[in-house]
Amino acid sequence: MSSMTFEQLELDPILVRALAGMGYAKPTTIQSQVIPEAMSGRDIMASAPTGTGKTAAFLLPICQHLLDFPRRQPGPARILILTPTRELAIQIADDAKKILKNTAVRVEVITGGVHESQHLPALTKTTDIVVATPGRLLQYMDEESFDSRDIEMLVLDEADRMLDMGFIKDVDRIAAEARWRRQTMLFSATLEGRGLMKFAADLLNDPVEISAEPPRSERKKINQWVHLADNPEHKFALLTHLLRQPDVTRSIIFVKTRDRLMELASRLQQEGLHNAWLRGEMEQEKRIEALGRFRIGRVNILVATDVASRGIDLPEVSHVINYDMPRTADVYVHRIGRTGRAGQKGTAISLVEAHDMPLLVRVEKYTEEVLKRRIIDELRPKHKEAKVASRKKKDGDSKGKKALLPKKKEKVRLRDTKAKGKPKWAGAKPDATKKPAGAKKAAGKKVEGNKDAE
Ligand code: AMP
Repeated sequence: MSSMTFEQLELDPILVRALAGMGYAKPTTIQSQVIPEAMSGRDIMASAPTGTGKTAAFLLPICQHLLDFPRRQPGPARILILTPTRELAIQIADDAKKILKNTAVRVEVITGGVHESQHLPALTKTTDIVVATPGRLLQYMDEESFDSRDIEMLVLDEADRMLDMGFIKDVDRIAAEARWRRQTMLFSATLEGRGLMKFAADLLNDPVEISAEPPRSERKKINQWVHLADNPEHKFALLTHLLRQPDVTRSIIFVKTRDRLMELASRLQQEGLHNAWLRGEMEQEKRIEALGRFRIGRVNILVATDVASRGIDLPEVSHVINYDMPRTADVYVHRIGRTGRAGQKGTAISLVEAHDMPLLVRVEKYTEEVLKRRIIDELRPKHKEAKVASRKKKDGDSKGKKALLPKKKEKVRLRDTKAKGKPKWAGAKPDATKKPAGAKKAAGKKVEGNKDAE
C-alpha cells in the first residue's frame, strides 16, 4: 500500500465514496503509480500480476475520464477492455459496476460461451465501457455489428496471457479497428519476452513504463525446486513418488508432446494415479469434460501439453510438475503461475535429465534464481549433475529487450483528428451522472452518417 489517499489522486468524490463502500481505503502501489500518469493522458505499460490491484488501476482513470467528459448523445462504447478469459471479463465488469454504482455509466460484457442475444445491449444500446474477450468481439467487428469508431481508450489486460493463448492477431486487428483511440494501457504479469515487447511497441505510443513489483509479502509464494533424474525410468519413479505425497492435493503435469502425454497418462493410470489429460486438437466437448473432472476434484492430476493449456482457464493447483522442461523460460514462468493462489503457497517441481540441463540453466538465468536441487532418499540420482558449458550471451537474453523494441510509430491521436470519420454524436457528450434527461434529449436529434445505435 502506498501512503497516498484516493482524494490525493484527484478522483471524483463519487468514485471515492464507491471505493470506500468496496473496502478500498487507500490506493495500492500500482494504483498510485498508474492513476496519475493515466489521467494525464499517457499510454501505460505496466507489469502488474493479479492481486496487486491492477484492475482498479486502469478502471479508476477510465471512470474519471467518463465523468470529466460525459457523453451528451447516445452512442457506442467509448472504452474497450480486452482480457484473455470470460471469467476475468466478468470480474472486471463487476468491479467497474461497483466503482460506478452512483453514476449512469453503462458497462457491458462481450465474451464467447454465451448466446449472441446476450450481447444485444452491448451492440445496440448506448454503452460506455465494454469488457471483452478478443474472439467474439472480433466476430462482431467483422460482421459490422460492433461499432468501434468511438473508442477513446483501449486496455489490454493480462497481455502476456492473451499472447500465450494465441490471441495476438485478433488483438492486433481489434486495436486497428479502435484506431481513433487516444490512449492505450497494457497490463501484463511480466514485461518479458520478445513477443510481448514487440506487441507493446506496436500498440503503445511513448508509454510510461510502470513496474509494480509487489513487496515480498504480497508476492505469490512459489516454492521451486529440481530433482535430477538419471533416465526416463528414474524420472517416472520420481513423479509417482511425488504424486503420492499427501501435500500434493492437486497437480498439473506438463509434458512436451502429445505422444508423451498419452503414454504418461496411461502409465499413471496403471499405477492407480487417476488423471485427466488435455492435449492439442481435442474436441471441445472432451476438453470441457476433462477439465470439468479436474475442476470439481473427481481426479486431482491433470496431464497437459502447453498447446493444450492455451486458451483455457486452468484452475489453480498445489503443484506444477515439469515432467518435461519447457523450451523457453517464459513458458516456465507461465506454467508455474498456475500454482500459488494469492497468499497461499504453491510448489513447482522440475524433473531434469542431463539433456535438459541447458533448459534449466536458461530458466535460472531468466528468473535470476538458482533452483534448489532436492533429493529423495530412496530415489537418489546415481549420476552427478551435468555441467553446461556457458555460452556467449545471445540476443535471446531478456536484458537486451530494450534494444529489440522496434522504433516508435507515428500514431494518429484522437485529439488531433477529433471530427474525422466520427459520427456526430461522438463529439457531444452529456453528463453521464444525469443520464435519462441527456439521453432523451439526444434521442430526439438527428444522427447523421451512422447506424442508429439506440
Ligand atoms: P486485482 O489485482 O485487480 O485482481 O485486485 C486484487 C484484489 O485486491 C481484489 O480483490 C480487489 O478487490 C482488491 N483491491 C484492489 N484495490 C484495492 C485497494 N486499493 N484496497 C483494498 N483492496 C483492493
